[in-house]
Amino acid sequence: MTQNSSINSFTPPTAIGFVGLGNMGYAMANRLAEAGYTVTVADLNQGAVKQFCAESGATAADSLQALGAQSDLVITMLPEGNAVRKVLLGEGDNVVSGLKDGAVLIDMSSCSPVDTRVLGEELLAQGFVMIDAPVSGGKYKAADGQLAIMAGGDLEIVERCRPVFEILGKLFHTGGPASGHAMKAMNNFLSAGTLALTAEAVITGSKFGLDPEVMVNIINASTGRSNSSEDKFPKFVLPKTFNSGFYLGLMAKDLRFAVDLAESENTPNGFINLLSGIYDKAEKDLGFEADNTELFNYLESLVESEE
Ligand code: NAD
Repeated sequence: MTQNSSINSFTPPTAIGFVGLGNMGYAMANRLAEAGYTVTVADLNQGAVKQFCAESGATAADSLQALGAQSDLVITMLPEGNAVRKVLLGEGDNVVSGLKDGAVLIDMSSCSPVDTRVLGEELLAQGFVMIDAPVSGGKYKAADGQLAIMAGGDLEIVERCRPVFEILGKLFHTGGPASGHAMKAMNNFLSAGTLALTAEAVITGSKFGLDPEVMVNIINASTGRSNSSEDKFPKFVLPKTFNSGFYLGLMAKDLRFAVDLAESENTPNGFINLLSGIYDKAEKDLGFEADNTELFNYLESLVESEE
């Protein structure tokens, strides 16, 4: 960290505007409020805003413009890039119209790296720097401050944001603008892949007569193990709770970003395309807000319908 970056670090009680109080944002903003940051929040869901302010002592923004004007740092934690663009630069009320000189934007949503590059350049032309800093870990790790944070953009600014990131999890600097979103798209491709592969293995083995729980225990002591077999299967799939807190529609979206990235870079994309197609069909069948782990049910339903 440079001397300069440490002097200008965003330490408490820096004013943070936080937009997006869903499964992830609620827990993240709560950690920042608890750490002593001065938090102002906004969300389309007024119920979430009310509840958050009552629980954390944070302030509800009168408008996005007012949130911008009150904040040294604005964090977005929204479903995807269209919502981020709308909140920051959209017609009518938006954050950027109120922002002070020197304020920094951090987009912690998972967005298309291709679109983020364009948005970052537009913001820079207006004098504002945006760091893309998507996360991995889900709502339980968000509540515990154990997210993996993949931050792309100017290193000195990322370092100034380090105190904020460290309340939320472990920081990795991924490189230039939009590299965090590229990293996240590739991680979620792998995460969705191991979930789908483990599901197919368990469905096929159980049809032959293997016990699913025994299968998962053996996979976890063998070379087929992954986060899906070690975490998602024991916690959410085998007990059929399907409450990981990550919408299947959001994973389908992340896979479309992986498809876009592979297309824009002209790299091998056979698995990415295949998986994205499976998730798109599962989303159509189960709905956007089905839990990501319900992909298992979707694949199981295909077996039954073929009988
Ligand atoms: P969510 O759908 O639970 O929350 C999104 C929130 O944004 C909602 O409260 C919604 O009302 C609000 N919102 C949407 N459009 C808005 C707008 N224009 N203005 C203001 N508020 C708006 O989603 P989530 O699970 O919290 O995920 C947020 C982001 O984090 C997504 O990009 C997702 O892919 C990513 N992510 C999620 C998880 C997870 O496990 N849930 C893990 C890692 C990353």
